[in-house]
Amino acid sequence: MKIVMVGSGYVGLVSGACFADFGHDVVCVDKQESKIEALNRGEIPIFEPGLSELVRSNAAAGRLSFTTDLAGPVAQADAVFIAVGTPSRRGDGFADLTYVYAAAREIAQSLDGYTVIVTKSTVPVGTGDEVERIVRELRPDAAFSVASNPEFLREGAAIEDFKRPDRIVIGAEDERAREVMADIYRPLYLNSAPILNTSRRTAELTKYAANAFLATKITFINEMADLCEQVGANVQDVARGMGLDNRIGGKFLHAGPGYGGSCFPKDTLALIKTAQDHGTPARIVETVAAVNEQRKRAMGRKVVAACGGSVRGKTIAVLGLTFKPNTDDMRDAPSLAIVTALLDGGARIRAFDPEGMQQAKAALPGEVVYCTDAYDCVTEADAAVIVTEWNIFRALDLDRVKQLMKSAVLVDLRNVYRAEQVRAKGFQYTDVGRGILP
Ligand code: NAD
Repeated sequence: MKIVMVGSGYVGLVSGACFADFGHDVVCVDKQESKIEALNRGEIPIFEPGLSELVRSNAAAGRLSFTTDLAGPVAQADAVFIAVGTPSRRGDGFADLTYVYAAAREIAQSLDGYTVIVTKSTVPVGTGDEVERIVRELRPDAAFSVASNPEFLREGAAIEDFKRPDRIVIGAEDERAREVMADIYRPLYLNSAPILNTSRRTAELTKYAANAFLATKITFINEMADLCEQVGANVQDVARGMGLDNRIGGKFLHAGPGYGGSCFPKDTLALIKTAQDHGTPARIVETVAAVNEQRKRAMGRKVVAACGGSVRGKTIAVLGLTFKPNTDDMRDAPSLAIVTALLDGGARIRAFDPEGMQQAKAALPGEVVYCTDAYDCVTEADAAVIVTEWNIFRALDLDRVKQLMKSAVLVDLRNVYRAEQVRAKGFQYTDVGRGILP
């Protein structure tokens, strides 16, 4: 199949490279010239494990190419995927569909022969209808269908997720589109990936429902963690005790500083708006979003409390900045709120992240000092905070850390260490939801 991917970010590039790896002929398009130039030089603009090799081998095999000009590739395509960003709209939190509709207009101009236009971006229910209306208005003559194929990959494990998905959701309104989509995903039938054929609107909503549910799970266990701290219980054991129940499942029950990233925060907000607009408010999700928002800054206060009630003039070492390990993505990372809260409290911040430093520099205030590694980061610090559970922070030489720090205060917002072990080394140690009775 000939496929065009409009938008070559985390989703577009991974999907494009994986489709090429299935044997399809893929052209990835992006508006950002620097991104396409980098890709054409063989450089990968994002950090995603395994992506560089996958892109290189498929480009070398002639199945994957990059361009800023979609006209030619779209004219030849069987399917054109829209994988552009759908960030929160300023002001009301609804999904900003400007990029999606702009892409739809550009695609419309170049359609030639039957083409399926597929929204892979996460888009509110009804967006497919609007894409169809836009394209039809510009090209009454064109033969096309609009389908929804939401993407469920996780950054950091994106290739594995794409190639071995729990399910593929395809929302289409006609048989011809369904057949094209089936041909595109046929290589995955070998892995017996379940394909869920639904209506377009159902597919659009499924993505939001899934993300909102995962965000709810995280927020639920975070509230249990707060309660555990007050009653002397251990949230990790509570989570295990809950998660071993198959009806609940153990995933997404890790207490921490609140969810962040490029999806959950904006997708919960967008779902809330959609539900309100349709007169059926999603009250649980509204609460989840509010609780999570407050939690991130509360984690800053947790650090302040660990420092004896004030961080004014103190140096805090922040270990990990990205919203989760194995990505360089800083969008809506909890570190943003935590660092800001600490700066507001008068702290000096030293920070280190294995992959996210470049993006962090653009996202965090200028006063932050960026360090070369974890040990450099904790040097002369009054307290260290683990914000992201990168593997390299899981096995720090704690004796060395203690020696380097001004005072041995460790706040572990990801519960990566065993409290007794760290305390035995002479640290004042604070974690999340592993309460001890006074
Ligand atoms: P991204 O910001 O990394 O990439 C979007 C790309 O689209 C950018 O490179 C941008 O330059 C490009 N673009 C915008 N308008 C364009 C146009 N008209 N023509 C060509 N290129 C254009 O975003 P992302 O993280 O890949 O997310 C894309 C969509 O996928 C979003 O709707 C997101 O919610 C969804 N999604 C993301 C993830 C994730 O983990 N990042 C997972 C599942 C779904």
